[in-house]
Amino acid sequence: MPDTAQPDAPLHFDTLQVHAGTAPDPATGARQVPIYQSTAFVFRDAEHAARLFNLQEVGYIYSRLTNPTVMALANRVAALEGGAGAVCCSSGHAAQIMALFPLMQPGCNVVASTRLYGGTVTQFTQTIRRFGWSAKFVDIDDEEAIRGAIDENTRAVFCESISNPGGHVTDLPMVARAAQAGGVPLIVDNTSASPYLCRPIEHGATIVVHSATKYLTGNGTVTGGVIVDSGTFDWSASDRFPSLSEPEPAYHGLKFHETFGPMAFTFHGIAVGLRDLGMTMNPQGAHYTLLGIETLSLRMERHVRNAVAVARWLEADERVAEVTYAGLESSPYYARAARICPRGAGALFTVRLKGGYEACVRFVNALRLFSHVANLGDTRSLVIHSASTTHRQLSEEQQRAAGVAPDVVRLSIGIEDSRDLIADLDRALSA
Ligand SMILES: *Cc1c(COP(=O)(O)O)cnc(C)c1O
Repeated sequence: MPDTAQPDAPLHFDTLQVHAGTAPDPATGARQVPIYQSTAFVFRDAEHAARLFNLQEVGYIYSRLTNPTVMALANRVAALEGGAGAVCCSSGHAAQIMALFPLMQPGCNVVASTRLYGGTVTQFTQTIRRFGWSAKFVDIDDEEAIRGAIDENTRAVFCESISNPGGHVTDLPMVARAAQAGGVPLIVDNTSASPYLCRPIEHGATIVVHSATKYLTGNGTVTGGVIVDSGTFDWSASDRFPSLSEPEPAYHGLKFHETFGPMAFTFHGIAVGLRDLGMTMNPQGAHYTLLGIETLSLRMERHVRNAVAVARWLEADERVAEVTYAGLESSPYYARAARICPRGAGALFTVRLKGGYEACVRFVNALRLFSHVANLGDTRSLVIHSASTTHRQLSEEQQRAAGVAPDVVRLSIGIEDSRDLIADLDRALSA
């Protein structure tokens, strides 16, 4: 990887979120990471160019592959997640395809949780089939089901740390054990938690994916994604991962795992994934996300505090049938949340209204501070009626499995004053 500030002693999260991956700009001394809005980078000479193209030396060639601003973000997120390396890409959905790409081949499958972001369910049930891949959905709380679903063609287990939209917390150590027993990596979508609330690699995950669109940027300005690799999986232990363990024809027979060790997955993601799939993050987006991450812990603390206050108020209200927030003591996930994400169970949960589908529509229309949008993880509080929007493509059975029945709305609690949020909810519930 290109040179970046690597701290000597392990630093704490609040320091890493400001400093990791970045140092004063070597060319100008600029303290903030400049937006390197340049497509290409000049080679010192022909020999330098050849070494870069052969992966014998790491540096900047062309921004589809690497860019200094984007690399600073990758290194910062890798540090926050405790990974060996990271690759940024154009969206959270791109990150998921990019994470699976080195692992899968036609005929291979991924064992996936039924409780996933609706867009991911669609990506996994429909679009990946065009590549000859498939997904086998399991109840991610059921260890026997996970172990039973892993077969000789399985190449990964995929789940969310805190699931969107229900806010259920996954027992990551249990899922990691099941994946390990099956000889496959565990990929965790950590979007809803952020690395401040949950660090999946510490719980046994191999790979972490993010939609940087959400809490990492934090203010609804960027579409982006990040893949972090722990660097711990032995890609050569079986013949299942030939892209990483076998000779790569496009690089004169280089074997990624043998050559790059713990950086094999990351380097493959750049040198083959970004090179050929082209799902690249732009430097301006990376800059905004770097700015957002500087305040990640501060925002997450407020998001969580507000979510607890709002969820408690909703739970006590007679117009509300159910609140799924794992940060409520009444939640079946409360004890697990304290173990998996001890700093809080996030700020995303669903609310079931006694008035059913009609009451949900009236409620969403009447809210003023909460914006009705298909997004989450913004400083602003957001609401969506998933059954009529994000999860519309799903069958009613899939909707219920994903926790978005027709009488359910999803809330993403922002960083405003919780008293104002509660007043807005109170008024809208009476509409
Ligand atoms: C939004 C989201 C995604 C997809 O991310 P995009 O940046 O919109 O492509 C994936 N997983 C989860 C949990 C999300 O919330």
